[in-house]
Amino acid sequence: MLALTYRGPGELVVEERAYPEPGPGEAVLSVGGCGLCGTDLRIAAGGHRAYVDAEGRVPGHEIAGRIIAAGSGADVEEGAAAFVAPNIGCGRCRSCRSGRVNLCETPQALGITRDGGFAEQVVLGADLIEQGNVLPVPGEVDLSALALAEPLACALRGSDACSIQPGDVVVIVGAGPIGLMHLLVAALASPALILLSEPSPARRAEADRFGADRVVDPEAEDLAAVVAEISSGRGADVVITAAPVGAVQALALEIAAPGGRVNFFGGLPRDRSRVELDTNLIHYGELLVTGTTANTNEDCRRAVDLITTGRIDTGALIGARIPLAEADRAFEVARSGEVIKVVVEP
Ligand SMILES: [Zn+2]
Ligand SMILES: [Zn+2]
Repeated sequence: MLALTYRGPGELVVEERAYPEPGPGEAVLSVGGCGLCGTDLRIAAGGHRAYVDAEGRVPGHEIAGRIIAAGSGADVEEGAAAFVAPNIGCGRCRSCRSGRVNLCETPQALGITRDGGFAEQVVLGADLIEQGNVLPVPGEVDLSALALAEPLACALRGSDACSIQPGDVVVIVGAGPIGLMHLLVAALASPALILLSEPSPARRAEADRFGADRVVDPEAEDLAAVVAEISSGRGADVVITAAPVGAVQALALEIAAPGGRVNFFGGLPRDRSRVELDTNLIHYGELLVTGTTANTNEDCRRAVDLITTGRIDTGALIGARIPLAEADRAFEVARSGEVIKVVVEP
């Protein structure tokens, strides 16, 4: 089978490999679609911690496909279409026991610490199956749209932390694929208004197309002034930062309304994660400032549900579907930022 393999910084190579056989408790998934995201670009460039010593590993963690083989005792249905939640906890640490597999002390994940979805087939380990990471879906589905349940689950987790209420003013900073997913998730809560701030004209156009009530170019307009104007001077009830910029986090506190909820969704580059914040804004405004990272299986289950019931159309976010043999081109297109989301279809 074909598999995109990491051979060192800047060296992702499509290679021929043996088709996998499932061991006891394991299963094999034929990959229908695997989303490409910033994490994969970081892996390709050699900038991902888990790939320091990962010669021969296959990236790809936004995975959907069909179960084509099950080993003895594996509790999966052969032939079923399924989304696979990528994060696998140890199951024993305190985080895992409280359902926060994303915070496991010894985390494993498909496409990160194990071979992932940029391959024709991927092995689903017994631990992954036992922990409920395989989420089967009935009927005919667009597997590439289903694969985007992974980033959608991340956005859901961040949005949940802000408990958006009907009537809220919501500000999302950054209209990349994740910012747009935040827009779609926020809209489900019927806020009064959703504003997206984004310097790229192409991304602002997408934010418009996906139903943002107000789109701001932060380089041409004063975001704080716009937020004050649309909220009668109160500020934003919810601010979600989906951009890897420290100044945005500082600004988020300044534009939040009293009692506002803030989610630092996007992480910052490791060497630029110290930011000066006016903590009096948190204190006197009783702001709730949260951080979320990755997702749990339950977040994924809810994301799959939103997609299969048609409440969120992740298919509309896909700008390019590229076969695995042309993985180079897929990474080029993703790097260019010309389309919202690239999915590799093995
Ligand atoms: Zn991703
Ligand atoms: Zn654990």
